[in-house]
Amino acid sequence: RFITFEGIDGSGKSTQSRRFADHLRAKGEDIILTREPGGSPGAEEIRALLLTGETDRWSPETEILLFTAARRDHLEKTIQPALADGKTVISDRFADSTRVYQGATRGDLRGIVDSLHSLMIGREPDLTFIIDMDPETALQRGLARKSGEDRFEDFGLGFQETLRHGFLALAHANPDRCVLIDGNRTADQIASEIAAYA
Ligand code: C5P
Repeated sequence: RFITFEGIDGSGKSTQSRRFADHLRAKGEDIILTREPGGSPGAEEIRALLLTGETDRWSPETEILLFTAARRDHLEKTIQPALADGKTVISDRFADSTRVYQGATRGDLRGIVDSLHSLMIGREPDLTFIIDMDPETALQRGLARKSGEDRFEDFGLGFQETLRHGFLALAHANPDRCVLIDGNRTADQIASEIAAYA
């Protein structure tokens, strides 16, 4: 099966995807833990193109093409082979991030995002954990580890609020695969709620 973790920056999705992977491994499951943008050698190269340079390095449309190219490579080289081998794939971000980040915050580009997804990706996760989080708390965490090297690092509160609402809307629109997790708790509490989905 294919499981993804989504949420705003600082929501704890990287920690929780790692903890869920450890939990499933301890139960004997064969797990591939991966991430986006990136997750395959080619997609990691595209990640570097996306995250470095000036803020206006790419137009919003070019950016969507690069995210989609990276996802296609990640799918071909990492996700599909692992699923074909019977492994469980856990990805820290996938297509929902593009729907929210590129589709909803950089102009109304959701139509382009959806068209490219159905043309080039056409695969949804079996299960998605959307970690919902108060943007102000997430912002504090984000600022604490801000690298300054990521051209997307926009920690404006308004931007994070828009993202949060985008993720909440996705969770409500896709109840068949999305589980909304309250991220305003300790990492242990969140991990034990998620562990119940093992
Ligand atoms: O999740 P991670 O921190 O690795 O993401 C790297 C950066 O890319 C973050 O600043 C995130 O906000 C941004 N991003 C984005 N659009 C996506 C995925 C990530 O702007 N679809």
